[in-house]
Amino acid sequence: MNKTTNNMKDICIKLLNDRGVGLDDIADIVYDLQKKYVPEITKEICLDAINRVLGKREVQNAILTGIELDVLAEKNLLSEPLQTLINTDNPLYGIDEILVLSICNVYGSIGLTNFGYVDKVKPGIIGRLDKMGKETNTCHTFMDDIIGAIAAAAASSVAHNAEDDE
Ligand code: MG
Repeated sequence: MNKTTNNMKDICIKLLNDRGVGLDDIADIVYDLQKKYVPEITKEICLDAINRVLGKREVQNAILTGIELDVLAEKNLLSEPLQTLINTDNPLYGIDEILVLSICNVYGSIGLTNFGYVDKVKPGIIGRLDKMGKETNTCHTFMDDIIGAIAAAAASSVAHNAEDDE
């Protein structure tokens, strides 16, 4: 991995932290998604997979773009009607889910299935972000999907590695 990529990855991890999500929170979701299929799974394995996902350029680009839009919406800096669409997490907007497809697909199509599941169930930190966005003056319209997609892609990576080991 070259220096720029590493640097981008660190920037993304810091952005996620600044927006209230640690890699550990994501690892909890990956663990729950895969424990049924990969009996030997550990939190360490989940964190390794998350780190592989965060090393991908298309993932970093989606994180940078989505979080920027959340932050701008929170500061009321977008133009209407986009400002209201994003700040109120309008269910018909839908670009938040589309943006993160680039993350879901980095380890193949199981990522998409996993993403559909976490988007519906909203486990752990994803549910907390969703609630926070609704109950406080913060905006996590893109953030909840970003986290769901990272967890979904990492779960696929764990699944592929487990299969390769067999
Ligand atoms: Mg969303």
